[in-house]
Amino acid sequence: MDHFSIRDGILHAEDVPLPAIAEAVGTPVYVYSRATIERHARVFRDALSELDAPHIAFAVKANPNLAFLKVLQREGYGADVVSGGELSRALAAGMAPRDIVFSGVGKTRAELEYGLDEDIGQFNLESTEEAVELAGIAAGRGMAAPCALRVNPDVDAGTHDKISTGKADNKFGVPIGNAPEIYARLATLPGLAMRGVAVHIGSQLSSLEPLETAFGKVGMLVAELRKAGLTVSHVDLGGGLGVPYKPGDNPPSPAEYGAMVHRVTRDWDVTLTFEPGRVIAGNAGILLTRVIRVKSGLRHPFLVVDAAMNDLARPAMYGAWHTFEGVAPTGDRMIANIVGPICETGDTFAMARECDDLEAGELAVFRTAGAYGATMASSYNSRGFVAEVMVDGNRFATVADRIGASDIMDAERVPEWLA
Ligand SMILES: *Cc1c(COP(=O)(O)O)cnc(C)c1O
Repeated sequence: MDHFSIRDGILHAEDVPLPAIAEAVGTPVYVYSRATIERHARVFRDALSELDAPHIAFAVKANPNLAFLKVLQREGYGADVVSGGELSRALAAGMAPRDIVFSGVGKTRAELEYGLDEDIGQFNLESTEEAVELAGIAAGRGMAAPCALRVNPDVDAGTHDKISTGKADNKFGVPIGNAPEIYARLATLPGLAMRGVAVHIGSQLSSLEPLETAFGKVGMLVAELRKAGLTVSHVDLGGGLGVPYKPGDNPPSPAEYGAMVHRVTRDWDVTLTFEPGRVIAGNAGILLTRVIRVKSGLRHPFLVVDAAMNDLARPAMYGAWHTFEGVAPTGDRMIANIVGPICETGDTFAMARECDDLEAGELAVFRTAGAYGATMASSYNSRGFVAEVMVDGNRFATVADRIGASDIMDAERVPEWLA
């Protein structure tokens, strides 16, 4: 459930009519609903209420906007970060260092040091090589870094190849079959405090089955590690729960997910960490855009909107569906190809889509754009970076300024020897 709905014929974000935001900030612009973020955060937390003190770390990469993170910090969420930049955002949003998990296969030495400087709660190690490097740095400081070993359970998450992370040939984690040997070795290294294992098999999962299979394998690993005399007090189950993008999509609910986790992990006797991203952020945001022109086409007209693949990359990158709606729908419908202005055929949001009948100058939205939206933006075609707004009841604020093409150009130099 979200707080974007039609009132008096006009699409609102909470109590704010979207034309007011377009007027004040221009388009394209992402619009987030604070009430929706909070609602999703609570629904997810409530779904885990059977568990003993679970830790929830929002996957910052899904939406790293500072105001967005602040809402989650106020809900008691920690953060799962995958770069030094994300770590500084989580800290700036007020998240406690001990509530921060650092994931990622390519943490640099500087990033490992940054994590130690800040005394973060957990490093999720993705290789023996990374572990040895972190151990060396931490031991040199007289520290023992709290760590989990990320395992690759070789499970097909049944999602898009580009967002699948738990198959044997994906780059993430260590093969689960090698984990006992690797864990035993890492547990001997001064500088590391090995406390558990982590798993994350992919994103936008539409079924619980692959998750349950992966968690089952992790449960067996935990038993095996303990049998070998190793300490396992923490297990990080990652994120990955899907959201409905399209009419008819029916991903598992957080409640169903929580019940499955409770059933599978009942005997583990560990503290569980969760890293939800999309399920919190996806339906808490929309991308507001204006139709530039309706261009006639061979079969269907092209609705050329002022948002493009540089603002919302998911359709171009994953062939993803985003529901497209007029802000002031009359009930008349059309079939159109919905495209952005960028000079790439990939800059197509939808082909032959039935949608509200729209004319040049009218406003429309792409739904479910709160996760992996603004954060994937680029300045391709020198279009600048899209602005972001947050709504709270009847007020709204710009939470990320639009960065214009000229600001980006200002950071460039023509060397003297070319002038
Ligand atoms: C991307 C990612 C997540 C979040 O995935 P969602 O599908 O958005 O829930 C969690 N953990 C790790 C390690 C990730 O890379």
